[in-house]
Amino acid sequence: MSDVKRISHHINGAYWTGSAERSGDVYNPATGKVTGKVDFASVAVVDQAIEIATRAQAEWRNASLAKRVQVLFAFREILNARKEEVARLITAEHGKVLSDALGEVTRGLEVVEFACGIPHLLKGSYSEGASTSIDVYSIRQPLGVSAIISPFNFPAMVPMWFFPIAIAAGNAVIIKPSEKDPSPVNLIAEFWKEAGLPDGVFNVVHGDKVAVDRLLEHPGIASISFVGSTPIARYIYETGTKNGKRVQALGGAKNHMLVLPDADLDLAADAAVNAGFGSAGERCMAISALVAVEPVADALVKKISDRMATLKTGDGTQGSDMGPLVTAVHRDKVASYVDAGVREGAALVVDGRNPKINGAAEGFWLGPTLFDRVTPEMSIYKDEIFGPVLSVIRVQSYDEGLALINKHQYGNGTAIFTNDGGAARRFQNEVQVGMIGINVPIPVPTAYYSFGGWKNSLFGDTHAHGTEGVHFFTRGKVVTSRWLDPSHGGINLGFPQNR
Ligand code: NAD
Repeated sequence: MSDVKRISHHINGAYWTGSAERSGDVYNPATGKVTGKVDFASVAVVDQAIEIATRAQAEWRNASLAKRVQVLFAFREILNARKEEVARLITAEHGKVLSDALGEVTRGLEVVEFACGIPHLLKGSYSEGASTSIDVYSIRQPLGVSAIISPFNFPAMVPMWFFPIAIAAGNAVIIKPSEKDPSPVNLIAEFWKEAGLPDGVFNVVHGDKVAVDRLLEHPGIASISFVGSTPIARYIYETGTKNGKRVQALGGAKNHMLVLPDADLDLAADAAVNAGFGSAGERCMAISALVAVEPVADALVKKISDRMATLKTGDGTQGSDMGPLVTAVHRDKVASYVDAGVREGAALVVDGRNPKINGAAEGFWLGPTLFDRVTPEMSIYKDEIFGPVLSVIRVQSYDEGLALINKHQYGNGTAIFTNDGGAARRFQNEVQVGMIGINVPIPVPTAYYSFGGWKNSLFGDTHAHGTEGVHFFTRGKVVTSRWLDPSHGGINLGFPQNR
């Protein structure tokens, strides 16, 4: 058992050395072997982290913007220099191929770079002489201790959507990463320490519902940023707001790609394969429903299946295109959707069950799968599958395709493929989805815009990062000030009016 590492909390700048009452197995999905045991935090451990974070935040909020930015720049340099190490940990516990893992870290790095501009982002406004001798100005201040609860599929990037901005704005954070791939955030905690962030400002507690529920109810937590499946996101939003916290809870997705008859079909086929099977479909922005406006479906399905035949499924460290799924349970769940699609009458064009693998047979494998002639009543269309399963739905017109997308319970991302600027412009106006790609299959906004979906893909008012992120992690004050003028004075019980 000596090659099974212990993964523990990182609190107050150091690894926790207590003994955990409960723990979870961490796997290498490419070998199926247990490689780690992650401690699950008890209520007492979460309370301890909150107490430490509260104390650290009381000082950190008073660190000058210049000081905070120095730490952020130092963190950015360390993360950039050591991003391959983070990527290797992601591949080892999540399974995605190394290049994809590196891409995830790089997108997180962009949020760190955005947060380095915090002095500009926190600037308030000032009105001189709003009333006679009275000036009015606004400032934004940190909230306190922010909790971040993240999913398995982006173990580094999703926490980085939040913590750089939270910390830059003067908050302390407690992160509860997914128990399936907990190591990358621990390494990031070490980077913060090296960058000079005061102990206690960045804390990691590992665990499950026990830890999450404590974060949701503890009065010392000011805000919750959650990303995960829709049922849990709804629960987090309802419970967190009931307990008086500011909550943003990003949920699941079913992202549609609408291909119009005038589209470049080779571009569309490349995009569908990249966005459908990258990271084995375990992306909240994966394309899982391709809506083909006739007469293009036959040609498109052929181009997609030809490309799928070239994909190599295997160990992410061995130059494969697509890695394993995260756990055996999840692989089996996704495979059961393939069975359901066959049962419900969809045409199985490429069957990913029993794939040829470049790697250990015991890994959590499922090959890329393509269904054609999928209809809206089928479970493979209605549900988020979160695996390498792409469904083609044939429609007769743009309007029929648009109606389908707008009727779906999820509204995270969508894409249109067309050479008609007018159609694309109409789509961006009419579609009820938060993030839209025009001839771009995975329209993840750059860090200075904000990430978030509509409908059951997001609960709360504020999207992640960008200026909405700055707004989320701060609250406003308005100051009305008078510096005495010789003409002041006199008692007046009336409501103050600007004169
Ligand atoms: P999940 O909902 O199972 O877990 C997310 C987090 O919640 C984890 O930290 C987990 O430990 C915790 N959790 C799980 N069950 C809980 C419970 N009963 N009570 C309290 N906490 C609980 O999600 P996942 O499987 O890790 O991630 C995949 C999901 O995340 C997909 O649905 C995907 O679409 C979604 N996701 C969404 C976005 C987005 O931006 N909208 C981004 C990434 C992932």
